[in-house]
Formats: sequence, C-alpha cells, structure tokens
Amino acid sequence: MERNEMLARIRAKEGFLCDMDGVIYHGNRLLDGASAFVNWLIREGKKFVFLTNSPERTPHELSMKLERMGLSVSPDHFYTSAQATAAFLATQNPGCTAYVIGEAALSKALYDKGIYMNDVNPDYVVLGETRTYGFEKLEKAIALVRGGAKLIGANPDTVGVTETGVMPATGSLIAPIEIATGKKAYFVGKPNPLMLRHGLNKLGCHSADVALVGDRMDTDIIAGIESNMDTVLLLSGVTAREDVESFPYRPNFILDGVGDIVK
Ligand SMILES: [Mg+2]
Repeated sequence: MERNEMLARIRAKEGFLCDMDGVIYHGNRLLDGASAFVNWLIREGKKFVFLTNSPERTPHELSMKLERMGLSVSPDHFYTSAQATAAFLATQNPGCTAYVIGEAALSKALYDKGIYMNDVNPDYVVLGETRTYGFEKLEKAIALVRGGAKLIGANPDTVGVTETGVMPATGSLIAPIEIATGKKAYFVGKPNPLMLRHGLNKLGCHSADVALVGDRMDTDIIAGIESNMDTVLLLSGVTAREDVESFPYRPNFILDGVGDIVK
C-alpha cells in the first residue's frame, strides 16, 4: 500500500486505542509529534482511549501527568490494567474480596467495583507494579494462595523501562508466588484482548472502525490483531524495524512516531 493511501486509511478511522509509553511519552518526556496527534484527535472529533498496562496511576493521575506535559485530556479518556482487573473480578465473582500488593490506584480501582480488601481469607491475591514490595507481603500472599486464593496479575510485563534502566514489573514480582505455590497467575493487561474489548466498549465503536496504536509487538500489536482491528506499530518505543520480522504476525502499518499520522 502506498504511504498516502495508508495514512488516509488510518486517519479515516472513527476511533483510536492508543498505548501511552513509547507512543505519547517516554517516562516523563513527551515524544515528538504527540501534541500534534492529540490535538488532531480532539479537533477532528475522533473517539479515543489511552490504554496502559501500568496499574500504578488512576485515570485522573494520568490526565494530570499529560497536563504537566502540556496536553489537556480528561480522565475518561484513559483505561488502565487496574481498571480491567477490577472489571474482570467483578464480573467473575461479584462481591469478592482481595489481598492486594500494589499501588493505591490498583486498590482504588477494586474498591470502585465493590471489591474490598481482605488479608484473612480473600478470594483473590492481586498484584500490580509497586515499589512497596517486601518479604512480609510475599509471605502473606504465598500463604493465602496456598490456602485457596486465586492469583491474579494486573499485567504480564516482566520489566518496566525507567530513566535509569529497568525496574521489575508485575510479571517478575509475581514469579516468586507462582514458584512457591505451584500456581500460575492469570494476567489481565495486554496482550489479553480483554483490555481492548473494554477500550472498544468505552469508545462505542466497532473494531473495524478503530485503529490500535502501540510500540510493542508482543502486547499492543498482538492484542489488536486478536481483537480484529487495524494495527499501527510505532518505532518511537521499544521496537526497531528489523525486530518485526522475528514475529509470526505483523502490524498493518509501521510509522516512526505518532506525529506521522497527522503530518
Ligand atoms: Mg508502550
């Protein structure tokens, strides 16, 4: 497909599901073209939701983070793995309780769905990225899972990129519990298509009218493909053009950055 034809097809979409890190910003640095893209979405009256696998911030906090970078996007345009986890548990087991290892945003998402904290006999042990991780909580979580609680990870990422290197993410933090209990966690965030289905519901669009925009083949692009929507891989994050060939699937479109969509 010729480049202009490709861009026209992306621009004609009614809705956009966009990843954040590696697409809009990298850590606390706004990426080139991100402002132009977000302003275009708003000006054109596009429907859009930012999807993030990070359960560490609430939609309100994400809105404030973009505000500090000079972008004005209201909290209802964000959907996090914490919200998807809460929605999943509330559907699976209404009125259930959980023991949580994670940041306040994860607990808040659970409370918002009527899931309350329980460190005695919870239905679930739920884990998401956190810097307050320690032996005591680990020991408690292992005892609870051995006692019958189901193990849930907000997202499967094993590492998160920081300004100074990498930090262990949910997949790494939950591994000791899996090993000590012999139980495998169920992960809710991307590439689980649940995240995108919730995003679609929020948009109120059919998958054929939506483009998934992301920087990772193994989370964003695969989830978009499995949800039957057009996928746009951006090279502004963790994936280089030559990496794409090593996957058994491919995105519909590859662009250098999100600004290319509106150039
Ligand atoms: Mg990303």
